Amino acid sequence: APVLAVVGRPNVGKSTLVNRLIGRREAVVQDVPGVTRDRVAYDALWNGRRFVVVDTGGWEPDATGLQAAVAAQAEYAMRTADAVLLVVDATVGATATEEAAAKVLLRSQRPVLLAATKVDDDRLLADVADLWRLGLGEPHPVSGLHGRGSGDLLDKILQVLPETPRDDVGTGGGGPRRVALIGKPNVGKSSLLNRVAGEERSVVHDVAGTTVDPVDSLVELDGEIWRFVDTAGLRKRVKNAIGMEYYASLRTQAAIEAAEVALVLLDASQPVTEQDQRVISMVEEAGRALVIVFNKWDLVDEDRRLAMKRELERDFVRVRWAEHVNISALTGRSVHKIAPYMRRALESWDKRISTGVLNSWIGEVVAANPPPVRGGKQPKILFATQPRTRPPTFVLFTTGFLEAGYRRFLERRLREDFGFPGSPIRISVRVRE
Ligand code: GDP
Repeated sequence: APVLAVVGRPNVGKSTLVNRLIGRREAVVQDVPGVTRDRVAYDALWNGRRFVVVDTGGWEPDATGLQAAVAAQAEYAMRTADAVLLVVDATVGATATEEAAAKVLLRSQRPVLLAATKVDDDRLLADVADLWRLGLGEPHPVSGLHGRGSGDLLDKILQVLPETPRDDVGTGGGGPRRVALIGKPNVGKSSLLNRVAGEERSVVHDVAGTTVDPVDSLVELDGEIWRFVDTAGLRKRVKNAIGMEYYASLRTQAAIEAAEVALVLLDASQPVTEQDQRVISMVEEAGRALVIVFNKWDLVDEDRRLAMKRELERDFVRVRWAEHVNISALTGRSVHKIAPYMRRALESWDKRISTGVLNSWIGEVVAANPPPVRGGKQPKILFATQPRTRPPTFVLFTTGFLEAGYRRFLERRLREDFGFPGSPIRISVRVRE
């Protein structure tokens, strides 16, 4: 179903409005990729059409961080939703925060709607009209108290939402491949971007047939143009001027979702931290291709190198399939190796194994290593298919449940026999009685 993301400051009446839109108090939390506890998705139904409402709230930043937080929220919404609804408190009017959010949303290629809440009294309609100046079109007055306007707003939402959600990331043809350059603060992201982009040639606006979001940078690496997504903060070096973990992670999440491949930067001179691992897990969970880049290699001595090897074995078990490259953004060492690794990871991410090959392969593997017997029965694998790429997704039709250990064994064998370096793969099992 198409997705509407709702954005706004705390206390503008966002939750009340969301509850109106979904038509009930108790909402069912939806399984939408990338939705975490901070962004809750609800099912909505209006005039026989289904859509999903994503509430981007759940935080209370301090006063100084508020503007940036709402802007980051808008950024996220813009990248992940089919349409965005900005909610403004009519009794307060548009503050600098709404202006910042509107600025972000004006760049959006998706439809944006504006709702003015708490319009419990007609005298407020003049203040509602004042919201035209945000440049987002007609402000829609609503009142949580009377339920006023929510029907009109819902009609409007259905008008702007596409019938079907926009395509999965990466399915559109052509254009430079999209890269998310991510990692915790101070690992060297801006240094690397500045090195590869160079100040002058950084934003090449007219690559044939591409519309470039101003927050992205087009960068030439190894003879190919790549699109580094959401690098505005990195380039201007306003990095973490705001410093709040919540929207740093929101931004990371948005970048991952907008990208096809993630370059996760780590500081090789320091022990791997939980935060590093969290970023890597986000990529894995989002199902994007991954290259792990150890930066500051110029600071690594023999002792540190050995310690790192141990950390890799201990902390990177879940992403053994990811490849590593050691670089120094400072000296430029091995930076040229990054692109070939990204290409390899994307090749895995795009790879499809034909049904014929897959089934003769699984026949051999299962004959040599049958699945463990459960409840006195030997589960049989009837058929295997790979319905999807990006990332490669396999479905096994079986006569019984396959244990997690056996599924891991199959994934390992798939990787040994067919490759897939740098890409997560998914295996699901459908039991047929
Ligand atoms: P960001 O927060 O990830 O964007 O990190 P920065 O690019 O701002 O880098 C943080 C600090 O690490 C700065 O002082 C950089 O000069 C330094 N730095 C970045 N890359 C390297 C490197 O390869 N070697 C060394 N020695 N220092 C680096």
